Amino acid sequence: MNSDATLDIAIIGGGIIGICIAAYLAEAGRNVTIFDRTGICEETSSGNAAALAFSDVLPLAQKGMIRHLPKWLADPLGPLSIPPAYLPKLLPWLIRFWRAGRNDRYEASLGAQAGMMRLAEAEWAGLMARSGTTNMLREDGSLELYESEAEFKASLPG
Ligand SMILES: Cc1cc2nc3c(=O)[nH]c(=O)nc-3n(C[C@H](O)[C@H](O)[C@H](O)COP(=O)(O)OP(=O)(O)OC[C@H]3O[C@@H](n4cnc5c(N)ncnc54)[C@H](O)[C@@H]3O)c2cc1C
Repeated sequence: MNSDATLDIAIIGGGIIGICIAAYLAEAGRNVTIFDRTGICEETSSGNAAALAFSDVLPLAQKGMIRHLPKWLADPLGPLSIPPAYLPKLLPWLIRFWRAGRNDRYEASLGAQAGMMRLAEAEWAGLMARSGTTNMLREDGSLELYESEAEFKASLPG
């Protein structure tokens, strides 16, 4: 990495990730230019639910997850869609994903994710304070809804 602070840094993509990276680099004295095909935060970063979900730390790879695969793949509105031709290429990753759901690995992922969220929350609060946007934050909790009693009960371990 070049330590010459006068060098320009180009960031392709001005979503929340790109602009946070740009803010940190600018604070570190770098000269940053963001390029985006549409505009700053005009794609996914403008169309989300705007929840700062730092408590959402449950890893996706968990025991039993793979059981749901056939049902999800068969449902056109399901959360997962894999083009059949892509499946052989994806298979090694799917196997790793399945193994990551084993109890010991699950606990390790959970610990790692919780640690990252603690760091993210602290960094985020600092970034909001420094950018003068803290007044845009509402801290009034959240309401979680489940479609059935069974779905609610299934979520209780988490
Ligand atoms: C429906 C929905 C609800 C969500 N709700 C939440 C929530 O409540 N809380 C939460 O934390 N997260 C939520 N998320 C996730 C969150 O919105 C995304 O993780 C986040 O916005 C991703 O930011 P990003 O900067 O990585 O991507 P993006 O916001 O997609 O930014 C990428 C940018 O790159 C640009 N780009 C792409 N290709 C090129 C190119 N070739 N040249 C130039 N520019 C390019 C795009 O124009 C875009 O502006 C939600 C997501 C969705 C879809």
